[in-house]
Amino acid sequence: MAKSIPFFRIEELVDPETFNQYGQRCWWFLSEKALASLVALREQFGLLTVNDWVFGGGYKYSGFRHPDCPIGAKLSQHKFGRAFDVKSKNYSAVEMQEYILMHPHQFPHITTMENAEQTLGWLHFDTRPVTTEGNQDGQREITIFNLK
Ligand SMILES: [Zn+2]
Repeated sequence: MAKSIPFFRIEELVDPETFNQYGQRCWWFLSEKALASLVALREQFGLLTVNDWVFGGGYKYSGFRHPDCPIGAKLSQHKFGRAFDVKSKNYSAVEMQEYILMHPHQFPHITTMENAEQTLGWLHFDTRPVTTEGNQDGQREITIFNLK
């Protein structure tokens, strides 16, 4: 039986080239921590879009990206299955980012986000390994990086 998660089908989480090649085996390429974080975000914010190519939309590269994909950085976290770019109709990327930063315990695996002021309306989060387990107060810090 194929793996599944609530709310999302595999086509929403990988690019079409990878899906056409691997089908349901694409689950092999996605980090459990990233998937758990995506579900937690969906539970908090309601409907979220990652990729919508399977529904006729234009987003193809917001989840796992094939190693040969020219979009984004060569060793982007997307190529490790640890990153998703999520879009909401009800919340701006900045609003979602602010909520995550205010409630980090709700998203224990998110380690890094792109500055949502700089993206084109999506929230990039990833679960890349980091060495810090928390600051001196025991609070986990989420790194925000700037695109430029
Ligand atoms: Zn991204």
